[in-house]
Amino acid sequence: MSYVVMARKWRPLTFEEVVAQSHVTVTLQNAVRAGRTAHAYLFSGPRGSGKTTTARILAKALNCDQGPTPAPCNRCRACESINRGTSPDVLEIDAASNRGIDEIRSLREKVILGVSKQSGHKVYIIDEVHMLTPEAFNALLKTLEEPPAHVIFILATTERHRVPATILSRCQHFFFRRISSQDIAGQLARIAQQEGIEIPEEALFLIARRADGAMRDAQSLLDQVVAFAGMSVTAEAVREALGVLDQDLFFRATDAVLAKNRTAGLNLIEELIGQGGDVGEFARGLLEHLRNLLVCKIQGGDTGLDLSEADRLRCRTHAEPFPEQDLQRMIQIVSDLERDIGDVIQPRLHLEIALLKLIAMEPVVSIDDLLDRLDRLEERLRGRLAAPESVPAPSRPSPALPEPSNRPHAQADESPANQPPASAEPSSRVPPARGEENASARASTPSPVPPASSGPVSLEIVRQKWDEIVGRVKAESISLGAHLDHGTPRAVADETLRVGFPARAAFSASHIRRKKREFEDIAARVLGTRLRVECILEGSDAESQPSQNPGEEQEAEQETKTEVAPSVQTVLQIFDGEILRR
Ligand SMILES: [Zn+2]
Repeated sequence: MSYVVMARKWRPLTFEEVVAQSHVTVTLQNAVRAGRTAHAYLFSGPRGSGKTTTARILAKALNCDQGPTPAPCNRCRACESINRGTSPDVLEIDAASNRGIDEIRSLREKVILGVSKQSGHKVYIIDEVHMLTPEAFNALLKTLEEPPAHVIFILATTERHRVPATILSRCQHFFFRRISSQDIAGQLARIAQQEGIEIPEEALFLIARRADGAMRDAQSLLDQVVAFAGMSVTAEAVREALGVLDQDLFFRATDAVLAKNRTAGLNLIEELIGQGGDVGEFARGLLEHLRNLLVCKIQGGDTGLDLSEADRLRCRTHAEPFPEQDLQRMIQIVSDLERDIGDVIQPRLHLEIALLKLIAMEPVVSIDDLLDRLDRLEERLRGRLAAPESVPAPSRPSPALPEPSNRPHAQADESPANQPPASAEPSSRVPPARGEENASARASTPSPVPPASSGPVSLEIVRQKWDEIVGRVKAESISLGAHLDHGTPRAVADETLRVGFPARAAFSASHIRRKKREFEDIAARVLGTRLRVECILEGSDAESQPSQNPGEEQEAEQETKTEVAPSVQTVLQIFDGEILRR
């Protein structure tokens, strides 16, 4: 008795047995059932995805003694001869080795001949059809243009883009999917069970991943592994037989990165080389491992991973401590390594450098995180400074805290959600939301609010309470208070308090502008009414100063902001800095 290799023995014989291509097989079955089969099909998809197998099943479906039937019997003479590859009605041509015009011409001559069976079909399966020469394609095209009623062409290709459009347009096109490792492992498990082979899931996945989407390759590899290890196969045996690196190596590599343990990293490479492992293979594996971690990080790893259940869970927990951005940076480093590793003289050295680079990598800290930390720090400091004074002022509820005004994007005075704190005055004094207010101010329409001089807060009152205001400000923010020392209240009108700064204190003025909301909050608590604050520069040198018109002033401020790169702007704001020289 001769041994039949698994790929042949377990070749699907019915549409149902074709793995992972039901979108094709169901459609074909429906077409056969309805008697609406086309004259030419194009099956495209990666190698080993079941194109030729499906073509043969379709041939049986049409020529079976029970047929045409969506479920060929596989027992009648027609079915059996097709399964054996001896049917005179099914011709398989490998275009890779028969790519010339002569072959296609002789094919055309054969097409004219009838079929061996009445009502039967002649089925031509042309594999790797993209390999045909242009002349051969032309000859094929003529045949496709006027095919005899009993002839069906099934063209198969892994490279659809190399098939001329004139051919494509005459075919019904089916896309075969790459078979996932999950599906391949599942099919291998069924085969192993029926063959009486003992093999754990981990080992099946090792084979499936190595087969890279090709079922036929996976079955050949299973053959190879069984030849090596016998009927009881372990994952270890698969690794040894196929030269697959232990997944554990990659987990240990990322462990070393996480622990910043350079010794562990170098030992790992030592071990890899000692076992005769290939550096390029390791780089590829590590890249895939990092990609798996990233997928876990982004979508939890329920889909998109070619891993066994155990490895999937392991990846998920392993990915946890890595920030997404760090994984992306690591992938960049390893993918550079993987790209270059084939060309370098000392691949081991390059691997070591890359791994040490990963280990030395500082974790990414986003600007937002930094700013948040800074905000928290500031709040804590503020609390500590304010506590001993026991100020009778109501402790501010946290939602009324100013929008962190040092954010690069959020201009404090543009957030309408930030309501003024509860005022002692009747609600008519509460200014409208900021956005509207600004709009009306720009349109310079007469304000509906009575002038402030006739209202409860006049310049006089502000002057009287100025020291108290400055004191409160200092209690909450020393730097803000220090800058405010340079200011003098100059006017109150239209619910706006204008604070004058001497030209030499331009920097203080701009600082107050940036922290305006904070200042306004404190002033509102002292005065019992909320006033908008505008900082005005006073004194000579008008050209070098920002305009005193508040609207222009604001625009000028914005302009200087946009001139400076956002990152620089952020640094400036965090450290209360200014640019000395550009
Ligand atoms: Zn049959």
